Amino acid sequence: MHVLVLGGTTEARRLAELLVAELPARARVTSSLAGRVASPRLPPGEIRVGGFGGADGLAAWLRTHQVDALIDATHPFAGTISFNAAAAAAAAHVPLLALRRPGWAPGDGDDWHPVGSLTEAALALPGLGRRVFLTTGRMGLAAFAGLDDLWFLTRSVDAPESPHPVRMRVLLDRGPFTLDGERELIRRHRIDVVVTKDSGGAATAPKLAAAREARIPVVVVRRPPVPEGVAVVATPGLAVTWLRERFDLQG
Ligand code: NAP
Repeated sequence: MHVLVLGGTTEARRLAELLVAELPARARVTSSLAGRVASPRLPPGEIRVGGFGGADGLAAWLRTHQVDALIDATHPFAGTISFNAAAAAAAAHVPLLALRRPGWAPGDGDDWHPVGSLTEAALALPGLGRRVFLTTGRMGLAAFAGLDDLWFLTRSVDAPESPHPVRMRVLLDRGPFTLDGERELIRRHRIDVVVTKDSGGAATAPKLAAAREARIPVVVVRRPPVPEGVAVVATPGLAVTWLRERFDLQG
């Protein structure tokens, strides 16, 4: 059988590791990456890089490469590819599963401000703080470009491009991050508000605990929904179970 994993996340890499280790030797596992990160951490198995050319292109790829199962293990905020995956899987009659890590939930002492988009986050910021720790990645910086009175600390794997806020310091780094490290960033840069997507997972969660300790507000961008009718699991292990049950696979 041939499994295509739409990746770009820690969970997708873990899933490829599990599948390569656990599926019968004749099974093929291909991981697909968008190609956004210059030197990504690569999963085991076969790799392909770059867009498919929309839902039609993905459907054609599924047919041409005789894919038996499609697993959408992309980031919870990668809404376009997830939508395309649902359309392509339906068109090519390939079973589809979405692997989504659960979102975060506020705890005691949190001052969270949920918003629907990066644009809404930018609108909310001036009322909340002046020195912003912006952890939403380099692709969405344009939404904050007009906020000339605020100072931003941004963090991304690769350097951001314009447009971006004028008063901005860039930190090139890749998770996982530690509570000590996040605490220190908030202290050293006198951060008074944090902006994050509700990405979920442990690797980038310490900023939330650090913000709670520092008693500063967090603007949390809500996730787009998983396309209607698509089955969802929360962990790579459960995705393997889904495949085993669906395809009656032994060892
Ligand atoms: P997106 O807006 O949903 O996708 C835009 C286009 O990029 C898609 O239409 C598709 O091009 C291509 N694409 C996306 N993921 C792909 C994949 N795994 N394999 C092949 N092509 C892919 O996605 P995005 O938000 O730009 O994210 C791009 C990648 O970065 C995703 O794989 C995601 O898992 C990862 N990522 C995203 C975030 C985030 O916050 N959005 C954070 C961490 C990692 P075609 O239409 O040409 O097929």
